[in-house]
Amino acid sequence: MKREIVIIGGGASGFLTAITARKNGRDVVILERKDRVLKKVLTTGNGRCNLTNVNASNQNYFGIEKTKQPIEKILESFTSQDAMKFFEDEVGIICNEENRGKVYPLSGQAASIVDGLRFYAQSLGIEIITDFYVTKIEKEMFNFKIISEDKRQIIAKKVVLATGGKSYPELGSNGSGYELAKSFGHTVTKLIPVIVQLKAEKEKIKGLKGIKSDAEVTAFGENKNGEKIKICTYDGELLFTDFGISGNVVFNISYVFPIYKNVEFEIDFMPKFTYNEIFEILKKRRTILKDFTMEQFFNGVVNKKLGQFLTKSAGIEKLSKSINELTDNEIRKICTTLKKYRIKIIDTNGFKAAQVTAGGIPLSEVNLENLKSKKVKNLYFAGEILDVYGECGGFNLQWAWTSGYFLGKNL
Ligand SMILES: Cc1cc2nc3c(=O)[nH]c(=O)nc-3n(C[C@H](O)[C@H](O)[C@H](O)COP(=O)(O)OP(=O)(O)OC[C@H]3O[C@@H](n4cnc5c(N)ncnc54)[C@H](O)[C@@H]3O)c2cc1C
Repeated sequence: MKREIVIIGGGASGFLTAITARKNGRDVVILERKDRVLKKVLTTGNGRCNLTNVNASNQNYFGIEKTKQPIEKILESFTSQDAMKFFEDEVGIICNEENRGKVYPLSGQAASIVDGLRFYAQSLGIEIITDFYVTKIEKEMFNFKIISEDKRQIIAKKVVLATGGKSYPELGSNGSGYELAKSFGHTVTKLIPVIVQLKAEKEKIKGLKGIKSDAEVTAFGENKNGEKIKICTYDGELLFTDFGISGNVVFNISYVFPIYKNVEFEIDFMPKFTYNEIFEILKKRRTILKDFTMEQFFNGVVNKKLGQFLTKSAGIEKLSKSINELTDNEIRKICTTLKKYRIKIIDTNGFKAAQVTAGGIPLSEVNLENLKSKKVKNLYFAGEILDVYGECGGFNLQWAWTSGYFLGKNL
C-alpha cells in the first residue's frame, strides 16, 4: 500500500496536520500506536481540556537549544483566536474563556474535543489506523518504508513525526519518535520533564507533607550568562509533598526549571499583606495572645503545622516560649520567614508525572518555513517532539494545533 502522507502519532498535532493537509486535497493516513487516538488530549486540563490560551504569544514558549525559539511566524499562522474559530466553526465546539485567558470547551469535557476531532477527521476521509506502533522507518529511493512492531509495512511519499515527547508514556508518547528521528541522523537535545511537581531540599520541607496554602511564589535562577535573576512570580495553591512541592502554582512556575540553573523559589505565605502590615498584625497578636505559648501564635492565620514550622525556621526553637516574650526583632524574623521563605529546587518528579517534555528535535535541524527536516527529504515534524515547550495554561496544546496547522498547510 503506498500513501502520499503518513502521519505517525494520532495526538493533537497529528490531527491538526492531517485535517489541514486533507482540506488541501492531500491523501492522509494517521498511524497511532495505542488502541485509540488522542488519549493524551482526553486527560488534559483535569479531563476538561484547556485547549488554548487567548494570550498565547512567543513570550510563552521556550526551548533547550535556545531559550527563546524563533517560532513567531508559526505561532502567527494559527493563533489562539484561529484555534477557537476552528473548533467552533468546523468541529462544533463552543469555547469558553475562563481565568487567565484559559479556554475550555463549554461542555467542560475533554471528550468533546476528542470526539469532535475524530468525527471531523473521518468525515474528511482521513484514514486512522490504531494499534500501529512504528518502530522503524527505512528511506528508499523516493519513498519511506514504515514498519510496525508486528512487521506490517506502509510505503509513504512523505512522513510526519508527530509522536509527542516522553511524558505520561502510558498515554502513548514513550519517546520512540526521538529514536525514529535519530535513525535519520537527527539529534535530540537534553530532555527535561516540565509542568510537573518539583523536588526541593529536604530540610526545608520536613514535616510539611500534605499541607496546602495559598501562596505567591517567585522563582530566581541563573541565566546562561551565569547572572542570578528574578524570573517570574505566580500565585495559587501550593501543596507540600514528601519530596517537595506541588499544586497549581508549582505547575505554572515549573517551566523555569529546564532553562535556568540553581533555581530557588521564594514563597510568600501571606501575599495579601505587605511586610509592614504583617509586622503590625503580629505585634497586635503578641498583646492579644500574651497568655499563650508560641504553639498558638499562628492559630487562625496560617495552617497550624506550617505556622509552627515557620516559627522554628525563624529561629524560635522552643514552641513553649511565651508569646509575650517575643521581641520586635523576633517578630521581624517571623515576618521575613512568612513573606520570603526560600527553598532550592533540586529536581523534577520525572517524566511519568510531567505534562510536557522540554527539549526535543533542535529547531536548527528543521526548516522553519515548512517544518521540514534539514537532514532527510520529505520528513517533517509537528508538536511536542520539537524543542518547543510552553507555560502551563493551554499553551502546549496551542503549540500542537499551531505547528500541526502550519505543517499541514505546507505539506
Ligand atoms: C495529564 C496531562 C494534562 C495536560 N493538560 C494540558 C492542558 O490542559 N492544556 C495544554 O495546553 N496542554 C496540556 N498538556 C500537554 C499537551 O497534552 C501536549 O503538549 C500535547 O498533547 C502534545 O501534542 P502532540 O501531538 O505533540 O503529542 P501527543 O499528544 O503526545 O501525541 C503523540 C501521539 O503519538 C503516538 N505515538 C508515539 N510514538 C509512536 C510511534 N512510534 N508509533 C505510532 N504512534 C506513536 C502516541 O501514542 C500519541 O497518541 C497535558 C499533558 C498531560 C500529560
